[in-house]
Amino acid sequence: MNRTPSTRVEKALQGVSLLEIVQDFVDLVEDEPGLWWGVSPHHEDSGPDDFVVLEKDQIWECHVCQSYGDAIGFMMNRGLPFIEALEYLERRIK
Ligand SMILES: [Zn+2]
Repeated sequence: MNRTPSTRVEKALQGVSLLEIVQDFVDLVEDEPGLWWGVSPHHEDSGPDDFVVLEKDQIWECHVCQSYGDAIGFMMNRGLPFIEALEYLERRIK
């Protein structure tokens, strides 16, 4: 059950850079403007083109398991519960 108003979520997602959040954990290489590639942090046997961040869309995609998401989803994939992922983002709002 999620009682968090979506405006709080939207504010957090709009206030942070997904790219900066991901880059704290993953080395990314920009191959075209706004397209950043790296090893998927979700899989141990991942190659350097398995994970991509679409900077403009604020979306990441994992090509190993075909998952994708936003910055909250990225932190939840790192093991944080939803509310802690949200709070992590809120601390990063500039
Ligand atoms: Zn994956």
